[in-house]
Amino acid sequence: MPSNEPDETGPESAGASQAPRGRIFDIQRFSIHDGPGIRTTVFLKGCPLHCLWCHNPEGISPSPAISFLSEKCMACGECVRTCPNGAHQFQAGDNGAASTHAYDRERCEACGRCAVTCDTRALEFVGRRMTVEEIMKEVRPDRTFYLSSGGGLTISGGEPLAQPDFTRELLAAARDEGIHRCVETSGFASWGRFRALLALVDLFLFDFKETDPQRHAEFTGQSNEIILGNLRALYDAGANIQLQCPIVPGYNDREDHFAGIAALARSMPDLLGVRLLPYHPLGKSKLERFGLRPAVYLPDEPLDREGPAAWISWLREKGVRVLNAESSSKAASSPPGWLTGA
Ligand code: SF4
Ligand code: SF4
Repeated sequence: MPSNEPDETGPESAGASQAPRGRIFDIQRFSIHDGPGIRTTVFLKGCPLHCLWCHNPEGISPSPAISFLSEKCMACGECVRTCPNGAHQFQAGDNGAASTHAYDRERCEACGRCAVTCDTRALEFVGRRMTVEEIMKEVRPDRTFYLSSGGGLTISGGEPLAQPDFTRELLAAARDEGIHRCVETSGFASWGRFRALLALVDLFLFDFKETDPQRHAEFTGQSNEIILGNLRALYDAGANIQLQCPIVPGYNDREDHFAGIAALARSMPDLLGVRLLPYHPLGKSKLERFGLRPAVYLPDEPLDREGPAAWISWLREKGVRVLNAESSSKAASSPPGWLTGA
């Protein structure tokens, strides 16, 4: 298999022969940013891309992990007593200073026992396995809100198509109960996996992160060739698609990339629209909980939630249907410095 081919292995491929069980890292109810209306978003673990600015770095690895937030630790010592591998220790501070909690991830097998005993939730197990029915029990109660708001279920990640059988089963269950379905995808998977979902998805929230293939590989670990091929194939198959474009200062906030977004959108007249997703440093802070550091410099400040207003206006002038709020384009009369490279 060439190195830039999608990795077709995943948590569910490890021998599940009956009802598929998914590896989940979060379920968010009352979400209003993951598709139309009020939604429940299910985040699946495992992604074949490694975006430098990843918003959900806990979703990249398909394996479970322990999140550790030292600020919440009250030094009760339960995890030290619980861990069979001695991964947790308290190290005495110098000159009477408080002892510090050392967590050796090299020794951790992510069995999850310490997280169960941690009352303050300083330790949390991330990546539980769930059946479709277990998830539907969390999705179903908000059906009234979905119907009144035009919302529903969104499957996100990670990359939903990295767990294709489970994603398909979950979509089918939601369809059978009349619940609207979105899939939020990086676009990096085999076309066969997309094709298998076509009849089950009401709306694809399809990421487009970078126009230049080499920069795309530099930023995400893969070229955009397969992604663009899948986007075109989905479009030709008549799928409802909304393009989602993360905007990250210092990386893809360049005119040639926005020109690429405009060209792509104009080449697909039935595209539902483009939404710019302004950078937020949340992913950066999450990394620390998993003992990781950003591989590159990333800004500490978020961009405005409604998106870079000048670029929204710029895209609209090029005839692109931008879905970000109208008010954000009225707010700016000239591009801010980061848009012009100043
Ligand atoms: S169980 Fe939780 S609160 Fe207690 S020492 Fe361990 S991490 Fe800290
Ligand atoms: S998850 Fe298991 S192996 Fe890892 S630190 Fe906790 S108790 Fe130890």
